[in-house]
Amino acid sequence: MDDNRYSSNRPRRKVSRRTYRNRRLAALAIIGFLVLLFVILIANACKDKGDKKSSSSGKNVTTITTTTTVTDPSITTTAPTTTAVTVPVNESDFRLDKQTVSIMVGEKDMPRVLEYPDGTLEADERWSTSDPSIAVVDSYGHITGVSPGVCLVTLKSAADPKQEVQIKVTVRGSASDNDSTTSPQSSRAEAPAPSVDDTEGLTYVNGVLLVNKEYGVPATYAPPLNSLCYEQFSLLTSAAAKEGLKIYICTGFRSYKDQEKIYEESVKTYGEAMADICTASPGHSEHQTGLCVDCNTADSSFGYTAEAAWLEQHAHEFGFIIRYPLGKEDITGRQYEPWHIRYVGSKIASRIHNSGICLEEYLGVA
Ligand SMILES: [Zn+2]
Repeated sequence: MDDNRYSSNRPRRKVSRRTYRNRRLAALAIIGFLVLLFVILIANACKDKGDKKSSSSGKNVTTITTTTTVTDPSITTTAPTTTAVTVPVNESDFRLDKQTVSIMVGEKDMPRVLEYPDGTLEADERWSTSDPSIAVVDSYGHITGVSPGVCLVTLKSAADPKQEVQIKVTVRGSASDNDSTTSPQSSRAEAPAPSVDDTEGLTYVNGVLLVNKEYGVPATYAPPLNSLCYEQFSLLTSAAAKEGLKIYICTGFRSYKDQEKIYEESVKTYGEAMADICTASPGHSEHQTGLCVDCNTADSSFGYTAEAAWLEQHAHEFGFIIRYPLGKEDITGRQYEPWHIRYVGSKIASRIHNSGICLEEYLGVA
């Protein structure tokens, strides 16, 4: 405290009028220089912003590109364009389960659409890629890695072109490329392994939630009946009604506890072996996903009704599949259930319906 050099009782040094004026001029010159520097920096930043169309992260990118050019002329050509892809910001009403995808060359992945903008249906999805030499995307949203790099895949709504969301796709070289850089990706692309994604105890295979004897859901997982599933089911029932048929929900969502009770009852009545064929054990019922519906009476007599025949023919048009078809019992592990329909979206449903396979076969996990 006592050696404070700036205390008020410190004697002031006498300064001549001339040095005082010189100091003032020097100070003014410094301030002027700083103002000029500031103006140049602002002008530079505005110019670069105009060049790049990047929405939010432009400030980070601009400083990098200006500094690198001076040092080594041989390096400058490679860097700038590939680093410009940043994680996109979704300002539309599309809601996806992920906005970044990281795959190997030849691998596939598919972001799932959890919510659509008002007035947009699954059939209105329009997928495109910013660089087909890095990754391609089909009309269903399956993204396949072509060569290492980063690009953007865009999902637009045909019903409302203002609604679009982008997915940042990073493609890495396949594992075999590390050993021999000369071999192309064609050998691996023939039969891509199903991409199994286990998040929070839920198993998605190529983006489709899979629940069967092998794959279950946690006891705490209790979503309501999926809104898209419900909307599509309503469309289905109206279409059936036009033909004089009555299809209604017998069971939609079922909780872990409900399933536990049903399974215990079934074991008591039929014994464990038979119960396993007729009833899913708790955690392994598709009804716990909120993505399926049991129609009408949910028993074998339903199979003889006109409604069952109509479902068999038309359910896929609304995005549903007969989840446990006749003749596939050894693969699904369940008896034929003509009343149990599962929502997978009309594109996948049509493929499954037209090829006569079951979901496990379609997903490559049979
Ligand atoms: Zn069912």
